[in-house]
Amino acid sequence: MPGEPARIGIFGGTFDPIHTGHIEAAEAVYRLLGLDRMLLVVANEPWQKEGIRPVTPAEDRYAMVEAATEGRPELEPSRIEIERGGPSYTVDTVNELLSRDPSSELIVVVGADVVADLPTWKDEPTLRKIVTLAVVDRPGSVVVDSPPGWRSVSVPVVPFDVSSTELRTRLEADLPVDGLVPDAVIHCIRRRGLYATGR
Ligand code: ATP
Ligand code: MG
Repeated sequence: MPGEPARIGIFGGTFDPIHTGHIEAAEAVYRLLGLDRMLLVVANEPWQKEGIRPVTPAEDRYAMVEAATEGRPELEPSRIEIERGGPSYTVDTVNELLSRDPSSELIVVVGADVVADLPTWKDEPTLRKIVTLAVVDRPGSVVVDSPPGWRSVSVPVVPFDVSSTELRTRLEADLPVDGLVPDAVIHCIRRRGLYATGR
């Protein structure tokens, strides 16, 4: 609506690889909260995963997100954290988006498994004052109460039991991932020889 502040969803992830659970969650939040935009923000350096496992280069992960969102104009792949470089902190992304459009309302989307980690996020006390949190259920994660101190909303999504970790294991073992990952992403993975699929 002209004159109304834009309501923008920020769905951040490593997306290594992006999968149908991510897409379903993003679509559900976009639709159910009636957002104006939904950004899929590819982490440049996911600081929680650094040193724990090798992470696929950001450009490959971004290419998979682009492939996954083909034909879905409501989902916008975002390079904001790649362009900024270095470790990716949501508070920096939020501040950058607010400097571009100070009147916008930002909604940070997380799966239920992430809620327990929120207190470890950079500048969490600042972040929770300036955004709304949208929490989506995730199979295997206990349904969480509103995280203390956050303005939050729980968004019901059709549960989709898949993780990127499981997919990396399946791809490396040459097992099928049909239905768990959009077809265009499977093509992108094979074209780029990711997850040892180029052997
Ligand atoms: P990994 O196994 O490598 O951690 P992941 O599947 O958890 O991968 P991430 O990129 O870590 O994917 O997650 C990005 C965001 O998507 C997080 O907020 C996470 O909770 C959410 N998410 C991931 N998978 C699902 C799913 N199946 N349903 C709902 N939310 C999900
Ligand atoms: Mg994860």
